[in-house]
Amino acid sequence: LLREGRLDARTGVKHGPSDFGRLAAAFDAMVERLQTDDRALRRANRALRMISAANRELLRASTESELLAAACRVAIAVGRYRLAWVGFAEHDERKSIRIAAHHGFEQGYLEILDVTWSDTERGRGPAGTAVRTGRPAVVRSIATDPSFGPWREQAIKRGYASAIALPLRFDGEMLGALTLCAGEPDAFDEREITLLSEMADDLAFGIIHQRLRLKHERAEEALTRLAYFDALTGLPNRVHLREKVDKAIEQAKPRGDPLALLRFDIDRFHDIQDGLGYTRADRLLKEVASRLRGVVAPDETVARVGEDEFAVWLPGADESHAITVARKLLDAVHESFGVTGLLVDIQASVGIALFPRHGAAADALLLRADIAAHQAKQAGTGFAVYAGATDQETPERLALISELRRAIESDRLLLHYQPKVALRSQKVSGAEALVRWPHAAKGMIPPSQFIPLAEHSGLIKPLAYWVLRQALRQVSAWREAGFELPVSVNLSARNLRDPELVDKINALLLASSVDPGLLKLEITESTLMEDPARSRDVLRRLKDMGIEISIDDFGTGYSSLNYLATLPVDALKIDRSFIVNMASSATHMAIVATSISLARTLELKVVAEGVDTAEQANLLRLLKCDEIQGYFYSPPLPANECKDWCEKFASRSAGSPVST
Ligand code: C2E
Ligand code: CA
Ligand code: CA
Repeated sequence: LLREGRLDARTGVKHGPSDFGRLAAAFDAMVERLQTDDRALRRANRALRMISAANRELLRASTESELLAAACRVAIAVGRYRLAWVGFAEHDERKSIRIAAHHGFEQGYLEILDVTWSDTERGRGPAGTAVRTGRPAVVRSIATDPSFGPWREQAIKRGYASAIALPLRFDGEMLGALTLCAGEPDAFDEREITLLSEMADDLAFGIIHQRLRLKHERAEEALTRLAYFDALTGLPNRVHLREKVDKAIEQAKPRGDPLALLRFDIDRFHDIQDGLGYTRADRLLKEVASRLRGVVAPDETVARVGEDEFAVWLPGADESHAITVARKLLDAVHESFGVTGLLVDIQASVGIALFPRHGAAADALLLRADIAAHQAKQAGTGFAVYAGATDQETPERLALISELRRAIESDRLLLHYQPKVALRSQKVSGAEALVRWPHAAKGMIPPSQFIPLAEHSGLIKPLAYWVLRQALRQVSAWREAGFELPVSVNLSARNLRDPELVDKINALLLASSVDPGLLKLEITESTLMEDPARSRDVLRRLKDMGIEISIDDFGTGYSSLNYLATLPVDALKIDRSFIVNMASSATHMAIVATSISLARTLELKVVAEGVDTAEQANLLRLLKCDEIQGYFYSPPLPANECKDWCEKFASRSAGSPVST
C-alpha cells in the first residue's frame, strides 16, 4: 500500500502515488541498510557464538585430538560452515600440511587436497598462504580466485563458495591453520575475520597447552616408571614389590590368608658376566626375566630385586603352591639361553619364605627367602623353604648377611696389606692381606664384626675365595711392576672343612700364574684343633703345593705340643695379646720367650704380631724372633701405599740399618 502511495504510514490518510515515490525509495534504502547491518551483525554474532562455544569445548577437551575435533565440530554446528579442518605445518622437505582434524561435508575432498605451505601452486591456497604469511587468507570466491585453481573443481562440486584459513600460531611458533569453507560466496567480512582470528588464537593456545600437559604427564610417567620399575627388564623393582607385598600382607592378616615370596638367584652370575661381557649378560638377564614372567599367573608378580636376583610374589599361595612355582621357575631356565649366537647355561637357586610363618613384612620375607635361596644353593637342592634359627636372627643381622653376600659378589670388599719385617736382615719379608668392608651407610666395617657373621652364614667360603683371588691378582700385578712380595691370607676353620679348598687354591694359583711360594696361609691355632686329623691332611696337601703355612694367634689355642710337632707348618705367629703385655707382665714375657724357643726346637719360623712400640721390637730382637708385624712399622695399607712403604723401607735400610 505504501509503495503504491495509497496509505500514509503515520496518519493512515491516503495520498497520491507521487508523494510516496521518494519515501518508498528512502524506506527501501533503510531496509537494505538494516538488512546489511543485520547480516553483519548476524555474522559477527555467529563468530562470537562460535568463539564462546569453542572456548567451552576447548576447555573440556582432554587431549589434543579431542581439542581439534571439538574446534571443527563447533565451527560447523555454530558457524554453519560446510567444512572445517585443521592442518599442521610439517617441517619436511615438501613443507606439507598434514590434516589433523576435520568436520562437516567433505566427501573425500581432504584426501585429494595435497596442500603445502611452500611458495608453489599447491602452497598458494588459503591454508598454505596463512601458514606462510602468518595472516588470515580469505578466498571470497572459489569460483573465480586464481589461487584456488588446483582445488576449484572439487570444491565447487561439494558446494564450497568461499573459504578462509586462519593461522594457528602461538608465541611465534607456526603450528598450522584452521580452514573454513562456506556455502555462500564472500562469507567473511572484516569483523568476522577478526573474531575468527581470535578463535584461532585460542585454539593454538589450547594445542600448546595440551602438548605441554602431555609432555608433563609423560615426564611424570617416566619418573614413576623409574622409581617403580627396573629399566633393563621392565619388571617391577624392589621398591614396587615391597609396597605391593606390604599392602597384601595388611589385607591378608585379618583373614589369615597365606602368602609366599620366592627369591630366584642366578648362581655365579659374576663369572657369567665376566665371560659374556656386560651387554650380553644384560640380554641374558632380560631373557631370564621373560622366562620367569612366562611361568607365573597374571595375579603373581615377578620383580627384579638385585643385579641377578629376582623375586616372585604369590598372593594366596601356601607352601605346596610355592614349591610348585619354584620348580616351574627352575624348569624355565633349564634350557640353554641363546645370547647373540652363544649358548649359555645357567644354574639358579630358589628360596621360599611364607607369610605368616617366616615374617609379616616384605623386608623380612625378602631376607628369609634370600637366606633360603642360599641354603638351596649350598645344599644343591635347587630350591628350599626357609629353615633358620629365627630367634638369633635379628633383622639387622639378617640384613647385614645379605649385604655382605652382595658385597662379596659384586667385588665391593677391599684388601689392605700389612708389611712384615725380618728382624735380622731388616728387609720386608711379606705382607698380610686383611679384608676390609667399606659399607655405604656404616663406613668401614672391621673384620672382627663381619668375619664371624660370614662364618655363621656360610659366606666364609665365597669370602675366602674372594680374598685369595684378590690377593693373587695383587701379587701378580706387583710382580709385573717389578715388585715381588709374598702375601699371607687368613683362613677360617670352616675353610679347612671345605672339600674344594685345595683344588680351588690350586686353580687360582694357575689362573694368576703366581708362584705358590708367594702365597702364604695363616690358620689359627684353634681352627687346627677343631678337627686335627683333617687339618693335618689339608695342610699337608697345601704344603706339598709349595705354600707356606703359619699357625696364627699362637698361644691361645691350647694345642698339645705332640700334635703341634706333627703338623706340616712353617711358622708360628705369636698372638698380639702376649706381645702387648710383654714388657709389663713377666708371665707374658715368659710365654713369648717359650714360644720362640719352642719354634726353634721344631725348626719353625717365629713371627710376632701387633708390635706397636720400639720397646717391644727391641725385646723381640733380643729373643731372636724372626719377623715382626705391627703398627710400629706400619698399619695395614691399601695395596699401592703398601708397595710405596716397602720401597721406601728398602731404600732406608739399605743405607743405614735400622736399630731400634
Ligand atoms: P689377625 O689375623 O690376628 O690380624 C691381625 C690384626 O691385628 C689385624 O686386625 C691388624 O690390623 C691388627 N694389628 C696389626 N698390627 C697391630 C698393632 O700394632 N696394634 C694393634 N692394636 N693391632 C694391630 P684386623 O685387620 O682388624 O683383623 C682382625 C682379624 O680379622 C684378623 O686377625 C683375622 O683373624 C681376621 N681377618 C682379617 N682378614 C681376614 C680374611 O681375609 N680372612 C679371614 N678368615 N679372617 C680375616
Ligand atoms: Ca692373621
Ligand atoms: Ca691375631
